[in-house]
Amino acid sequence: MSSPIDLHSHSTVSDGLLSPTDLVRHAAEKGVKVLALTDHDDVDGLRMAADTAKTHGICFVNGVEISVTWRSRTIHIVGLKINPEFPALAKGLKRIRDSRHVRAQGMADSLSRVGISGSLEGAYAHASKGGIISRSHFARYLVEQGLARNVGAVFKRFLVKGKPGYFEHEWASLEDALDWITGSGGIAVLAHPGRYDLGKTNMLTLLHEFRELGGKAVEVVTASHTPEMVPHFARLAHQFELLSSAGSDYHGPGQSFIEMGRLPDLPAICTPVWHDWHEMVH
Ligand code: AMP
Ligand code: MN
Ligand code: MN
Ligand code: MN
Repeated sequence: MSSPIDLHSHSTVSDGLLSPTDLVRHAAEKGVKVLALTDHDDVDGLRMAADTAKTHGICFVNGVEISVTWRSRTIHIVGLKINPEFPALAKGLKRIRDSRHVRAQGMADSLSRVGISGSLEGAYAHASKGGIISRSHFARYLVEQGLARNVGAVFKRFLVKGKPGYFEHEWASLEDALDWITGSGGIAVLAHPGRYDLGKTNMLTLLHEFRELGGKAVEVVTASHTPEMVPHFARLAHQFELLSSAGSDYHGPGQSFIEMGRLPDLPAICTPVWHDWHEMVH
């Protein structure tokens, strides 16, 4: 069975390839019935996406994916049903977006030290005006320059710790991100926990802190989780009395491991994060 619920996706406002409108249209074509747009550190696409969703009969969820530094590691927190106008959230996201520009300069300087020039302008050329600048945009520039076969290959040789183009960056704190989301009336979800390579003890500590700080759900089903990770994180969510979420993390055609509307169902042990969403037609 594949599920028509997708609570993690990206548009051109962050590092997706489809505009908010085209993303929603694509989701509709693929049979998605409940969709969250969760751009990195930006909520600018939500209004357009919501308007388009209405004309396609899709139940739309206001979302965001916040970049967080936890114990010197980058983790992502998805906020669902947020109020994008909540001042603390809007201000916090603006601060992260501003800091991304400083980081981008640092990344470009690092690349220029190994003889790769023009990457700052090149990366911005792949980003939307007014949207965020991210490693994905640098990756697309490096592919364009023939320095890697594809974006996946870029992240093996560049832009990661110890490689050219990496620039250490401090994101929001876990506490702030959860306060902004919860304060705005939203639900905080720990995104793709299988990607963090934390080790068992640190993962348990993260889940504990996440819960203590008001976190509500774990993304159990997502494109970057292996078939073994799904039941593993389902059990952990259950153990910590957290709800479970599901999202493709779709970034556009050819960018993602999984198509929209093709996510497997959550394991039976999970309580879905949408279990009490009355606006959804079950
Ligand atoms: P940033 O938030 O600027 O550090 O950029 C992170 C983004 O880069 C993620 O959201 C992904 O879209 C992309 N990314 C990170 N690692 C990889 C990878 N190994 N392959 C493809 N895309 C990646
Ligand atoms: Mn991304
Ligand atoms: Mn992420
Ligand atoms: Mn994402």
